[in-house]
Amino acid sequence: MSVSQSIKQQCRYAGKSIALATKHKKADALALPLSAGLGAAVKTIEIDTDIFGTFLGEIERKKTPLLTAREKARLGMRKAKMPCGLASEGSFGSHISVPFVIANEEVVVFVDDELGIEISESIVTTKTNFAQMTVGSIHEAESFLLQTQFPSHALIARPNQYNANPIEKLLGRFFKKSAFKHIQKGLQTREALMAAVRASARNSADGLVRLETDMRAHMNPTRMRVIRQLGVKLARRLRSTCPECACPGFGATGVAGALPCQECGQPTESHAYEVSTCQKCHYTKSEKRRDGVIEEQSMHCLFCNP
Ligand SMILES: [Zn+2]
Ligand SMILES: [Zn+2]
Repeated sequence: MSVSQSIKQQCRYAGKSIALATKHKKADALALPLSAGLGAAVKTIEIDTDIFGTFLGEIERKKTPLLTAREKARLGMRKAKMPCGLASEGSFGSHISVPFVIANEEVVVFVDDELGIEISESIVTTKTNFAQMTVGSIHEAESFLLQTQFPSHALIARPNQYNANPIEKLLGRFFKKSAFKHIQKGLQTREALMAAVRASARNSADGLVRLETDMRAHMNPTRMRVIRQLGVKLARRLRSTCPECACPGFGATGVAGALPCQECGQPTESHAYEVSTCQKCHYTKSEKRRDGVIEEQSMHCLFCNP
């Protein structure tokens, strides 16, 4: 029996279509892991995902990435009238535990309304070109262009201090909107970048230009690779089934217990077990940490190192 045949016999999603809500060609990253891992076909459902907020802040993000991804997935499913769907959402900023390091967190939410389950997976990685710089001319940007992998990765240019004209100043509440009109996204050639830098400098009160990496998936191959890895993780999770009821998506949902301190043996705040709970029948299984750690260093102990 071939590998694909055995997947088809085992997996609930073999031969099924899954709606992928996206505006930025994420099927390029997610279709292969889900077809290879599950035998499922990803169907792109074009939705205007910008209504959920944009990286540049023209539209503010009001919800957590997880909730946003879930809403996107459901919107795509409604539009396509399909019972299964998924969507992903990325965010960028300081790493939670490593100071001064920039990280990319990607979350994906998969919904199966026939089974009544929602499965989410996430990845945190420092593999990102996320960066900004303020420059007076293109010549000052050379090291930034190298660092951000331009032109394989697109850039964004905008006036550093948007210089509103008198009419825009009068119409104060439209001011922000018109400032965003001067943002130029998706710059992928040196000619386009130079023209955008000149135009942004002209429209900037201080003559400076703010350059930023374009983090939209189809403009950023590094981010696309991270989303593909997340797709592999999701497929693996959906192949894992509940030992009790065989519902797909069985996997770690939380942590429990406390690791003992290696010096004094008192419980620390680090967890000892990983807990998996089935969304369907609520069967729960606790297992030792997958990283193999069984005791905590005394520097993290509240008794030894208060
Ligand atoms: Zn179950
Ligand atoms: Zn201790």
